Amino acid sequence: MKKFFLLILCLAFWGGCSTDNSIPKSQHPSVEEISQLKTKVEPFFKPMQIQPYDWLATFPENGQTYEEYINSSPTLPTPQRNTIYIQPIGEFSETQKKVLQLTADYMKAFYNLPVRMIQIKPLSEVPREFQRKNPQDKQIQIKTAYFLDKLLPKLLPDDAAAFICFTNYDLYPDESMNFVFGQATLQERVGAWSLWRFGNPDKDQKEYKLFLERTLKVAMHETGHMFTMHHCTKYECLMSGVNHLGELSRRPVDVCPECMAKIAWGMKYQPTERYRNLSNFWQKEGFEHLSKEFSEKEKAVSK
Ligand SMILES: [Zn+2]
Ligand SMILES: [Zn+2]
Repeated sequence: MKKFFLLILCLAFWGGCSTDNSIPKSQHPSVEEISQLKTKVEPFFKPMQIQPYDWLATFPENGQTYEEYINSSPTLPTPQRNTIYIQPIGEFSETQKKVLQLTADYMKAFYNLPVRMIQIKPLSEVPREFQRKNPQDKQIQIKTAYFLDKLLPKLLPDDAAAFICFTNYDLYPDESMNFVFGQATLQERVGAWSLWRFGNPDKDQKEYKLFLERTLKVAMHETGHMFTMHHCTKYECLMSGVNHLGELSRRPVDVCPECMAKIAWGMKYQPTERYRNLSNFWQKEGFEHLSKEFSEKEKAVSK
């Protein structure tokens, strides 16, 4: 009997540790409180400006407001499914492994969920129907359906709020497109993205920083899709669709006020706490301007 009691205590303690940056329930912001906070961070974002060859010039979309998101019954974490898993598949350099670890750290600060990195798996033989040579550069590419429909559903942990696969192989979604940076499902909790097009992080410090920013942007973007966040069209936002590397570079490393509100509501995450955690991340990594920007956002929503 005593043994049983001790076990219960351990589980409760462990559960508390695994969500150490979550907010006590009494402090969860209400739908209305979040709505009011949106306007306070508007000055930090630019309205969407569509340039030739951008995503919206190619695929016109309507976007999704905070209110539409709430009414869409999005796929969100539950007490049983509250961990984000990252599964690297392929071969990675030491620097790339470091960036993957930082991606897990940023994701925790971004979405307020525990993030677990799974051991790297080699890529086993990909069936012929899921690979091709890119028509332009003749490099081997893997069809995203191989990861999303075949591989990841078999590996999906029971307690996964989202299951994300990183690979070093270039990806394509179907014959109509040249490539994709990543792709995720809106309901099935799985997503895959590639480091292939993000540059060489071992070249120099400038390339390393670019590689890190690109990886974080695409990782947070695809994870947003897994929580049923649609593409953003109102602002230049991390959740806006991206068609090429130049467009990815223009995007901020954060979501706009509308999408911030979705995260605050869906993840029960106080915006002040979120901005503080993100500011601390960038401070630690030596990106002073980004740390300052998040710190200013924290001040703006605290007023
Ligand atoms: Zn997208
Ligand atoms: Zn947005």
